[in-house]
Amino acid sequence: MAANEQKKRILTGIRPTGALHLGHYVGALHNWVDLQNQYECYFLIADYQALGDHFHDIDLIRDSVLQVTLDWLAVGLDPENSSFVVQSYVPEFAELTMLLSFITPLGMLERNPTLKGELDALEVERRTVGFFNYPMSQVADILIPRAHLVPVGDDQSPHVEMTREVARKFNRMFGEVFPEAETLIGKVPRLSGTDGQGKMSKSKGNVIMLGDDEQTVTKKVRGMFTDPNRIRADIPGKVEGNPLFQYHDAFNPDTAQVEDFKTRYREGNIGDVEVKMALAEAINNFLDPIREKRHYYEENMNLVEDALMAGVARTRVIAAETMKMVRDAMRISSYTKNWK
Ligand code: ATP
Ligand code: MG
Repeated sequence: MAANEQKKRILTGIRPTGALHLGHYVGALHNWVDLQNQYECYFLIADYQALGDHFHDIDLIRDSVLQVTLDWLAVGLDPENSSFVVQSYVPEFAELTMLLSFITPLGMLERNPTLKGELDALEVERRTVGFFNYPMSQVADILIPRAHLVPVGDDQSPHVEMTREVARKFNRMFGEVFPEAETLIGKVPRLSGTDGQGKMSKSKGNVIMLGDDEQTVTKKVRGMFTDPNRIRADIPGKVEGNPLFQYHDAFNPDTAQVEDFKTRYREGNIGDVEVKMALAEAINNFLDPIREKRHYYEENMNLVEDALMAGVARTRVIAAETMKMVRDAMRISSYTKNWK
């Protein structure tokens, strides 16, 4: 058995609905970069899932597939070590979604709290059958590589729970095919938006992108929300819940400086501008090597495509294997001798 086959498998992914920002880094990518050395990782670009609420904007999806890949390469995900995969390039994802939907009770989707919240927030004309069914497609995403572990935040954990239920039911009805995937991390940090109004989220426009240039970052940091009660530098300020300090904690490696800022901020002994300028510098230092790598890959788009195709090729192998196991177990599609 090759060393790689002994590693547990991970499936995780992202919808291509825009390039990635610091929130994605803190909440996902940072962790993935560590995981890629310990596990056999499949990083999915879920373009079908993006259709769920972006079916009117295929141009955005098309562009974002490459933007996301650039961001992944830029932060140090290694496409030789892990598999980057575009969902629509491996038809088995869709096929398994469809097959599993026949053994999945409607109530499992109707009761899913994350889905419920998202559907309620969606305009009526965007509430499609496809969107309703997206947790089912996540189940198939996880089961196609027969993943053991799924690193996700709290909001996604109902989908992993559903994956386990569907896998158990399939195994009970047709025989053991799927491992029961487990959530790897229950809690990932949520990075606030620059506006301090909830989490950083591209649809809210309160983001610092991984690809933002130095001037843009400085401008965004200058305009950041801080303690609104602090109209003068000599008024004691709030550190807790203040996005300036959350970002300092996340991106400023000079912890002595950060502690000094916090103390002086609480005392009303420092201006916001000083805290912001040091933060802009810290984020720019953090982003510099990421930008450099991103730029290199932008100039060498053939490498970006190679990265995707290598991952797709590896995923196609395991996907074909899984679907053969599924069809054999279900005794479906093998009615004639020459069927392949
Ligand atoms: P949208 O505004 O369209 O919802 P988004 O910017 O919130 O987009 P998503 O595609 O919803 O990005 O995020 C994908 C995953 O990235 C999330 O499930 C989460 O793991 C992580 N993530 C996104 N934003 C943050 C954030 N601010 N803090 C931590 N993790 C985040
Ligand atoms: Mg979101």
